[in-house]
This record gives sequence, C-alpha cells and structure tokens, in this order.
Amino acid sequence: MIRPVYLYDTLTRSKQVFQPLNAPRVTIYSCGPTVYKDIHIGNLRTFAMTDWLRRVLEYNGYTVYLVRNITDVGHLQNDTEESGEDKLEYEARVTGHSAYEIAERYTRQYEQDSTAINILPPHLAPKATEHIPEMIDMTSHLLERGLAYEANGNVYYAVRNFPAYGQLSGNTLASLQAGAGGRVQLEIAEDKRAAEDFALWKRGEANRQMNWASPWGTGFPGWHIECSAMATKYLGEQFDIHTGGVDLVFPHHEDEIAQSQGVSAKKPVQYWVHGEFINISSRLFHQNTEGEGDDEMKMSRSKGNVILLSHLQEWGFEPLAFRYSLLTAHYRSKMNFTRESLSAAQNALNNLRADLAELPVMLYDTDDPWSDESLRQRDAFHVAINDDMDLPVALSIAREVPRDQKITTGERRRLLLDFDRVLGLRLDTVEPRATRKFSDEVLALVKQRDQARAAKNWRESDSLRSQLQAMGLEVRDTPQGTELA
Ligand code: AMP
Ligand code: ZN
Repeated sequence: MIRPVYLYDTLTRSKQVFQPLNAPRVTIYSCGPTVYKDIHIGNLRTFAMTDWLRRVLEYNGYTVYLVRNITDVGHLQNDTEESGEDKLEYEARVTGHSAYEIAERYTRQYEQDSTAINILPPHLAPKATEHIPEMIDMTSHLLERGLAYEANGNVYYAVRNFPAYGQLSGNTLASLQAGAGGRVQLEIAEDKRAAEDFALWKRGEANRQMNWASPWGTGFPGWHIECSAMATKYLGEQFDIHTGGVDLVFPHHEDEIAQSQGVSAKKPVQYWVHGEFINISSRLFHQNTEGEGDDEMKMSRSKGNVILLSHLQEWGFEPLAFRYSLLTAHYRSKMNFTRESLSAAQNALNNLRADLAELPVMLYDTDDPWSDESLRQRDAFHVAINDDMDLPVALSIAREVPRDQKITTGERRRLLLDFDRVLGLRLDTVEPRATRKFSDEVLALVKQRDQARAAKNWRESDSLRSQLQAMGLEVRDTPQGTELA
C-alpha cells in the first residue's frame, strides 16, 4: 500500500510530504562523529534517528543511499566562536598519540557501538582528511564567485554576500549583526572582515600534525566545508535529506547551505531533519557530589558529562535495551536519560522477546496474503511510522501483536518480524521457547499430504488439509512443504 511519508523539515518549519528527487532512490547525508573522544549515548541517539529514517523509507519501498562522514580534522574546540585548538590536534597533544591514531581509535569505537545498537552501516563513510582537494576546489570556486576572501593565509566566507544566509536557523544577518544570534559578541579573528564570516581554510601553525598545501599556503580546512564537499561529491549538487542533531542547525548546517548553494546556485538539501538531544540530570552524573542540583543538562563531550554505551553495559543493561528506550520518545523531543527509564526499557524488551518466543515458527512465502486483522495492524503501524517517524506509537502497536487474538499465532510472529524491519530490535534472533510436538498420526497425515501435493493430486491434498484443520491445526503451504501450528 502506497502511503505518503511526512517529515518535519527544519527549513520550512513544517511537516512536509516527502517527495524524492529521483524516486525510488533516496539520498541522505548525515553528519557523522568528530572522532577525538568516545562517542556517547547522545551521539548514538542522533545516529539511530537517521537509521530509523532509513528503515522507514525502505519499509515504504524506497532504495536508500546513506552517506555519513567521519570528521577527523578541522573541528575546533569552540565551534561557534571558531576559536580554540582543533579537537583532534588537542587530543593528540595531551595524550602523546598521533592525530591519525586518535581518529582511528574513536572511529572504531563509534562503529562498534553503532553495530551494538543495530544501526545499519552507511553505504559510504568518507573521511574529511581524504577529501582535502575537494574542499580546496570548493573554496576556490567560492573565491571566484566573490563569496569568499583571503587574508593572511586564511580564507573566510563573506556571509554578507549570500543573501539567503540565516534561513535555516533564523539567525539572519540582521539578527546576527544586532548580536541576537550570538556571533557578533564573540571573539573576532583579527583578519575577518565581519564577525559573522566563517573560515573555509585556516593557516596552519607549525606545531600542527595535520597540514596540507593549498593555493593560500599551508593550512587545514574549516569544519563546515567538509560536509559540503563530500555531500556534493557523493550525492551531487542536490540530494534529498540531510540529518544531524539540533546543535548543528547553526552554524554548521547554515554554513553548509551558504557554501553548497554559493557554488551551485541550487538548493542542495530538500529536507532537513534534526534530532533532539539526550539530556542528563546532574544528579545522575555527579552522584557523589554534594550540593548538586537535579537540573537537566546537555550531555556533551566538551562538558565531560557523558555516558557511554559501555557504561550502560557495566550497569548490566544490553545495548538493545538502550535502542528500545530511544523508541519510546519522539526524535524531536528532548529525552532525559535516567537509569530508571533504561531499566524499564530492558524489562519491556525482555517481555517482548518472551512473548515472541511463545509464538510458533511458521514458514511463509513472502507473497502469502496477510489476514484482514494483520492488514489493519500493518496499516496502523505504517501510518505511525510515516507520520514524521512516530515510533512511540509504532512500538505500542507492535507491543500488542503477541496478544492479538484475532490473528493466528504463527501470523503474529510474522507480523512482529515485519515490524522489526523498522524497529531494528533484532527480534529475528529470538529463539522459540519450544518446538511444538505433533503426534505420529498428525505427522503421517502431513507426509501423505506432501506426497499428494508433489503428485499434484489437489483433491487429496485438500481433503487432508480439512482433516488436519478439523484436528484444530493451522495448515500452511510453504516451499518446504506443509507447515503446522
Ligand atoms: P559531534 O561528534 O560532536 O559532531 O556529534 C555527532 C552527532 O551527535 C551530531 O549530529 C550532534 O548533533 C549529535 N549530538 C551531540 N550531542 C548530542 C546529545 N547530547 N544528544 C543527541 N545528539 C547529540
Ligand atoms: Zn556535517
């Protein structure tokens, strides 16, 4: 059944009917991790959001192509002010490892944690350090078009020359200049012409490990240009969806539009999808600190108040219980992380698995028709996931399936596994609790029926089906022969 997919688009600030540029193909660019420290459960929430978006689109019959980059250079410690050291260079300096070793170590941790919560790997994971020529090329184009200027080996984007600036975040030039958007009050690099301008290329200091030659001297790229360069290279000047956490709306994604559109004069991204943050109560983090309030605070690596997937495992929870807990909140609502909510998710997941284990295994042809009640449930599930990914509702529909008396037990299992294509809880790994034993008499009838079917003796096979049904059994034809439940 074809149903429209609705997505909330940050640019238009409204739910839109999703229409890909080249259906059935859908192209998604997702900002990946800066690999300078451990990836935390907040980062994982944002990556899982994109995973669900991909699965929802695939459930709708689209063919998704997902690119998620690895930021291994150019992300400064203070990205709104564009000040401080490069995060990777800093980590390398204080740990005594090379910046490349740091990047490799945390890329591996990010991949392992993503796999542990069943995030499907992106089709492509390009690294910023492997795309310096593309970034230089794009910067040169922006210089040619009068949208950038060079000063002392640095190249800045001249924000004033791009009138559409600010549409995504609402930080228009006027509001920025009035100081409302933040930047104007911030530290101004000496050679910037205007406070709102941002770096495309930075002069390299001699003590940096990661420097490259460029037409403007030795240096390294600004953070934002990598995503414009890699998205254009792999998805073209225009692609369907761009995702990330809400903190990336400004300046990262605002600057990405200015760069990509500045070069191509086309709207690069058709739908902007941003996920909300995981917050954490300060009490949970500073359990032993006296006088701490119970305020919620943002979990972020720069603040150091992070919880990792490995912490949850040390507390005895499964990674998939964390995934389950993410399903209980809509991706555009803030989530306050607590141990209690994780514990509730672990219990709920255990119960769902136990319910599933009770349902008998039946083999189906993928094109076997669904019963009317299953069709109704599938429809409700489909409506929920297509409504801007309303996964909490979709999960509650799935939760009802094991007890739905209007559906045969075997079909309940099939329905849950169908829903799990989207939910991604690895329900297909749940072992049935017991294989049902059938009497010799029943098994003899099954054998007789399979022989009749092989001989295309339909009259006999139908009469044997009736006999088995009269014994209270469900009978299904599969490529493997007669299946019972
Ligand atoms: P970073 O490595 O800092 O660039 O972050 C990687 C992704 O995680 C980005 O899309 C961020 O927006 C997102 N992110 C960072 N902190 C959180 C958080 N506490 N909750 C949810 N997403 C986050
Ligand atoms: Zn990005």
